[in-house]
Amino acid sequence: MQRLAIAPSQFQNQQIILTAEQQHYLSRVLRLREGDRFIAMDGLGHWWLAKLEGNQAQILEPILQPNTELPVAITLMAALPKGNGFDEVVRYSTEVGVVAIVPLVSDRTLLNPSTGKLERWRRIAIEAAEQSERQIVPTILDPVPFATALSLAKDKNYICVARGDSPHLRDCLQNKDFAGSGDSPNPESRIPNPQHPSIAIAIGPEGGWTAAETEKAIASGFQPVSLGRRILRAVTAPLVALSLVAAAFED
Ligand code: SAM
Repeated sequence: MQRLAIAPSQFQNQQIILTAEQQHYLSRVLRLREGDRFIAMDGLGHWWLAKLEGNQAQILEPILQPNTELPVAITLMAALPKGNGFDEVVRYSTEVGVVAIVPLVSDRTLLNPSTGKLERWRRIAIEAAEQSERQIVPTILDPVPFATALSLAKDKNYICVARGDSPHLRDCLQNKDFAGSGDSPNPESRIPNPQHPSIAIAIGPEGGWTAAETEKAIASGFQPVSLGRRILRAVTAPLVALSLVAAAFED
């Protein structure tokens, strides 16, 4: 059945007030007709069976769905690559299972993000979450300088460094006994689960991190790690790092 992400504010009593864009998507793209059913997801882990009724939808019943979320809360901190490269970063990392994405403006970042970009990335995250049947839509924060992102450190924090003799991320993840941080924004939501450990992964831009950035990250508790001997593109590196974390934690 077709799924649609709905903002919590659109739920009113047993109705969902659809935006013009959602009405267009349901009727023109998905070709649903009056009375057809679809799944409404609030992005916080709740799903409902809903019935299309004009510019609204009636909520029929809650749906208990299998949990598709990882038992680890991953925050990706990624420097903005050139062009539209961040679109792919958002799409792939949402599919793999991140809970938050922090776009970084680093010393060697070439792109100055326009305001429309953030909205576009959030739309891509919604689409990718729907497509990959996730319970939640990852949060995409406003772009921040790397120094600011360091203050968002999690239980365990890794900075991916392309050259040098850092240990492989895979080996660092073998000891997974760090505890959960306990900050759950919504006690009714299944995700983020306060029992789950939280991990931050930082990926640099095309030109790599400056030495000052790496040093500052290490001083803030980030462990430098390798993703292997090949130099990965700024768009590929997040996917490799997140796949390693997902593989280490997925049960
Ligand atoms: N020109 C940069 C250099 O020589 O260091 C390469 C930057 S790479 C295109 C972009 C980012 O991806 C790096 O800053 C790093 O975070 C990550 N990365 C790429 N390959 C990596 C690897 N083999 N190990 C760890 N991180 C890697």
